[in-house]
Amino acid sequence: MRERIEELEAVARRLEPNAEERARIRDPVIGFTERFLEELAEAPCYHLDQSGARRLGQLPVGESGLDPEVLAEVLEGAVTGQGLNPASGGHLGYIPGGGLYPAALGDYVAAVTNEYAGIGFAGPGAVEMENQLIRWMAELVGFPETAGGNLASGGSVANLIAVVTAREARGVRAVDVPRTVAYGTDQTHHCVAKALHIAGLGEAVWRSVPMDSTYRMDPQALRDAVAQDRAAGRIPWLLVASAGTTDAGSVDPLAPLGRIAEEEGLWYHVDAAYGGFFLLVPEIRPLLQGMAEADSVVLDPHKGLFLPYGIGAVLVRDDDHLRQAHARDAAYLQDAAAEEWASPADRSPELTKHWRGPRMWLPLLLFGLQPFRAALTEKHLLARYFRKRARGLGFEVGPEPELSVVLYRWVPEDGDPDAFNRELLKRLHSDGRVFVSSTTLDGRFYLRLAILSFRTHLRTVDLYLEMLASVLREMGEGPEPHPHQA
Ligand SMILES: *Cc1c(COP(=O)(O)O)cnc(C)c1O
Repeated sequence: MRERIEELEAVARRLEPNAEERARIRDPVIGFTERFLEELAEAPCYHLDQSGARRLGQLPVGESGLDPEVLAEVLEGAVTGQGLNPASGGHLGYIPGGGLYPAALGDYVAAVTNEYAGIGFAGPGAVEMENQLIRWMAELVGFPETAGGNLASGGSVANLIAVVTAREARGVRAVDVPRTVAYGTDQTHHCVAKALHIAGLGEAVWRSVPMDSTYRMDPQALRDAVAQDRAAGRIPWLLVASAGTTDAGSVDPLAPLGRIAEEEGLWYHVDAAYGGFFLLVPEIRPLLQGMAEADSVVLDPHKGLFLPYGIGAVLVRDDDHLRQAHARDAAYLQDAAAEEWASPADRSPELTKHWRGPRMWLPLLLFGLQPFRAALTEKHLLARYFRKRARGLGFEVGPEPELSVVLYRWVPEDGDPDAFNRELLKRLHSDGRVFVSSTTLDGRFYLRLAILSFRTHLRTVDLYLEMLASVLREMGEGPEPHPHQA
């Protein structure tokens, strides 16, 4: 048997390359990422042709390994350059992401060391790093020391954790679910509906509270809705406010809503996945006032902190609620029971998990907060600059951006505006130097501009304005001041 084991060992050892072999693997991969970064500023942001992605199917998993050079080439030909390039500063659609380089090195550290970040007993340093980051965010939000949180995979899972915490904290019983009422607006992110459904609350009543003309929840309408629900024997229990809606970038009136939640005994959840990190901007902070009164808050570091995809954060005012909703015992984990370090596994559906700490810790400590504040302020001003210039071109524009989203549409002399703007968007996509998306609000088709990539600067916005003007000319509409705007 020893002989057989030794034979197997000789083959299995290929899994542990030595220093020289590591370099042979690393060089082509690093070469690929370096080329990617060097070419990024001039590379298109959107490719209509996505046929390269099919190449992956021609390279199935087989018995023997392939050359790292070949694999790096495949990455280049089949993955990057296909569809959207979210790392590009030209990404002005949806809510743009980031991709700070030191975060990639943080992931590298996490993967090489494979620290166990689920339970403090196993990885006290790894867990404490995440807890430090959670404490920093809790302070930013204005939560007291009782607060706890979790670094999740993204905003959707962070919202799910908050909904489950709220359900347990408010003691929502299964038999009562059809009588319970949660409040939000038509602009509440759809991941909240998904979270309610996953949390067994699909039969609960969802009340879309009316909004004002800038898509913010109307506090008086909320009060009226709660009163009506109580009068009808229903059980109001959850209020979801948005600090930065995805569609319009609006911020619900957080402080007045918080007062109503308090008076009515509702769990107050603020989904600040998009807008939360604008707390770092002194000029915008007052707009977000009231977040500190929430019971739970979601922030998305892969949006407002420009980190690569794969990190969201949930913060809960009282850590006990978070823990009670998620901690369970297991006999085989008895050594870990007495915890000195608050364990992520007791605060999320995950047990073993990616150590997300270093991808956030490394950029924050390496750069310090100054460039983050500057970048967020810059994005806000770029959005206002764009709105002004777009209006100058003759576009009908939405509200002045509170954060960094602008809505706009062209109203042609004749014909259907929705069809016109759809065609305009199609032409912008086939250009591809900049990528924008659209939405439908009040039954109208709007183009959206969302500025949140750390790589988006004046040059990008000016380029996009030129693209708009030239597509309009192509479509027979002058970018001169438009009669509708007079
Ligand atoms: C992006 C976003 C989400 C969802 O977050 P993911 O990280 O994409 O899962 C939830 N709410 C708001 C307001 C968002 O902008």
